[in-house]
Amino acid sequence: MRIVIENAAIATVDGDEGAGTEYTRGHVVVDDGVIEAVGEGPAPDGQADRRVDATGCLVTPGFVNTHHHLYQWATRGYAQEATLFEWLTALYPVWAGIDETIVHAAAVAGLTRLARTGCTTAADHHYVIPRDGGDTFGATVEAARRVGIRLHGVRGSMDRGESQGGLPPDSIVETMDGALTGTAEAIDTFHDPSPGSFTRIAVGPCSPFSVSTDLMRTAAELARDKGVRLHTHLAETLDEERQCLDEFGCTPAELADDLGWLGDDVWLAHGIHFSDGAVARLGATGTGVAHCPTSNSRLGAGIARVRDLVHAGAPVGLGVDGAASNEDGGLGVELRQAVYLARQVKGPHSATARDGLWLATRGGARCLGREAEIGSLEAGKQADLAVWRLTGMNHAGIADPVAALVFGALPPLALLLAGGNVIVEDDEIRTVSEADAAAALGAASRALAEKS
Ligand SMILES: [Zn+2]
Repeated sequence: MRIVIENAAIATVDGDEGAGTEYTRGHVVVDDGVIEAVGEGPAPDGQADRRVDATGCLVTPGFVNTHHHLYQWATRGYAQEATLFEWLTALYPVWAGIDETIVHAAAVAGLTRLARTGCTTAADHHYVIPRDGGDTFGATVEAARRVGIRLHGVRGSMDRGESQGGLPPDSIVETMDGALTGTAEAIDTFHDPSPGSFTRIAVGPCSPFSVSTDLMRTAAELARDKGVRLHTHLAETLDEERQCLDEFGCTPAELADDLGWLGDDVWLAHGIHFSDGAVARLGATGTGVAHCPTSNSRLGAGIARVRDLVHAGAPVGLGVDGAASNEDGGLGVELRQAVYLARQVKGPHSATARDGLWLATRGGARCLGREAEIGSLEAGKQADLAVWRLTGMNHAGIADPVAALVFGALPPLALLLAGGNVIVEDDEIRTVSEADAAAALGAASRALAEKS
């Protein structure tokens, strides 16, 4: 299948830190799922199975979501005025009722929402594994196959319930051995390391306050033994920092360092409360950070030092986080949220619209270790791209298409391709029925609420 997209503004995001080649009226040629050519003017070789006249559109790389909990789509709207620890304490008993049917409905809805907002690769951190819930992790993998975007499924775990000084109730934690066995099985069953893969698995004990240090350490060893990446929550709130200082006599970043959890195969969710020393250490080790600006705002957690981290050399991408702390669940709006939050700290010169686009694309690809395959529009990379229609009233007259995308309302998608496959067209998801997904999500949310 050869697709030729012409007459579009194009932001390739082929540079570092908010830079990249742009074309005012250019072309993208896709052949067999891979980008064959990108440039100014008409396509050099006009042969096409499909030709798209993208006049008035902006083409960007597909967005990369670096942190999510798709199962939380079934628990939106709870604990609306809560700190992280209050919110978790309210939601753990509800999450205890999830099963594979509920998770599948939640994941189809969440992945559909991501695709509808420009996302072609999503990391999902699944750490609630009830004993009688069936294959909740596999349900997410299956949902991603249906929706058709790339999944980085993080097999999460918790082994430190209340009786061990942890935050979650004992009823929803696993044993350390159970967590390690389940994680190894998930890798062996689903992980596809091949270039252009649509399913990768990572290892993800949940957080220092729900996981034993033994599990953190052995999980890191397992990940490195299997050659997969590592992901966890870190430095999200000051409550977490205080608890870590009280219990371990060190900051969360120091604890992670001690446990083997800094490195260029690790990306951390949130990473808000870092000292200058910690920022430098993350940069030196190449440890990534998934910046989740909307979730951080809903929980009043703080503002990550994105610019400092990027300058230090740490890969930084964007994440929507679970929909229980970000009911919108869309990735597109996070670009603006990230830019505006950064400006609240260091002023309007400190972050550009292109910085927001870079975080959502190349920065995210770097976090997931996939910069050679995705995250920019360059010949030889996977054909993951979004064609944004900027011709409506919401964007008319904004001369800079990247500013229209990031500062304006999220535009409709004329087309979204993942590996050259059509996922969204004319602002409609084409791989699943959105009406069916909404109905299943409503039923799953009600079923879960009745259980709790
Ligand atoms: Zn999270």
